[in-house]
Amino acid sequence: MKILVLNCGSSSIKYKLIEIDNESIIASGKIERIGMHDGILSHHPSGKEHIKKVMEILNHGKAIKIMVDTLLDPEHGVIKDKKEITAVGHRVVHGGEKFAKSSLITDEVKADIKDCFDLAPLHNHHNFSGIEAIEKILPGVPHVAVFDTSFHQTMPPHSYIYALPYAEYQKYGVRRYGFHGTSHRYVAQKAAELVKKPLNELKIITCHLGNGCSITAIDKSKSIDTSMGFTPLEGLVMGTRCGDLDPAIVIHLISRAGLPLTEIDAMLNKHSGLDGISGISNDMREIIQEVDNGNKRAQLALDIFTYRLKKYIAAYAGAMGGTDIIVFTAGIGENVPKVREQSCENLEFMGIKIDKNKNEQTIAKQGEISDSSSKVKIFCIPTNEELIIARDTAKIIKEREKPGV
Ligand code: ADP
Repeated sequence: MKILVLNCGSSSIKYKLIEIDNESIIASGKIERIGMHDGILSHHPSGKEHIKKVMEILNHGKAIKIMVDTLLDPEHGVIKDKKEITAVGHRVVHGGEKFAKSSLITDEVKADIKDCFDLAPLHNHHNFSGIEAIEKILPGVPHVAVFDTSFHQTMPPHSYIYALPYAEYQKYGVRRYGFHGTSHRYVAQKAAELVKKPLNELKIITCHLGNGCSITAIDKSKSIDTSMGFTPLEGLVMGTRCGDLDPAIVIHLISRAGLPLTEIDAMLNKHSGLDGISGISNDMREIIQEVDNGNKRAQLALDIFTYRLKKYIAAYAGAMGGTDIIVFTAGIGENVPKVREQSCENLEFMGIKIDKNKNEQTIAKQGEISDSSSKVKIFCIPTNEELIIARDTAKIIKEREKPGV
């Protein structure tokens, strides 16, 4: 069964065609600069030459058509007929409180996704455009929505309710939702496999450190707390986002500095984090390079990043009454030993100890990086959100096909 996985953003679409029976990737690719005259298609068919093409891609509909045509292309394609695609799995960022699980996309589900536009104006709208565009090109093919938020719907109210007047939650849905759920879910499952124990007997802390960063406390297979909140702005320091902040700063910037809301929004989301502190870059590779060159602001950015992360690791271990496993994943988590080392430093009193050699050697691959004396197992696990989306899609399709369902 071949499942097409789509992740539609504002100006890019990432895709993967997965053979779910053996979980192999048949093709993957990316379409970037949608809406521009110089859009870019990068296509990686398994066992064939990779291609990169620059062309006009004016909207998501055109981008999706180019993607399907490329999958069917006699030279670079991987399928002969559209009918070979059994189903499509979509990453949808926000499922609000409606979606605690992945769902087959029906008219009703579409209306519910639209209802969440307000909660994730930057994301859901584009995810939705992708759904509508591919439905037209692949009529009759079932579609499944896999939400970034749904894994965190198991959080108890004391984790997700803010200490604001309760009416704000009731009126406007102001609460912690959490994001990166598919990634946290994937690496937690993988970690349980690695220690050969059932997920529902483990306490796991998962650190997803990419451009966006979040950390989750997973107790007996359920997310019980996570650092991103009502939006992906809260929590850890990120590439360009500030993470946790005294909310009075925003009031001060409006009332004293006279900044308009749009400017504050851009400051907090696009010009803060590693980029804002260092004045160098949002890219951890460049930060590390400058740290090695003795740049003090780069060092400060790295130190704030890892200090915040360490506080969260300790807090989540406290929230769960301990932890058995810590996992690092995503671009920074998988590739930057210094971040992993600094964020676990001085946590030996909690049974957390990294093996420096193993840590240095584990880059862009799966591996255990804890010292043999460490009570807590520490792993680097490359994330695979697309595989979770494909698995959920296949499961829902198979259930739908069962007689009597
Ligand atoms: P996204 O959230 O966009 O999926 P990624 O998981 O790809 O992001 O992570 C992007 C971050 O990972 C960037 O800060 C980038 O610098 C960092 N990163 C990626 N590869 C490396 C590497 N080899 N060394 C250091 N940092 C890396």
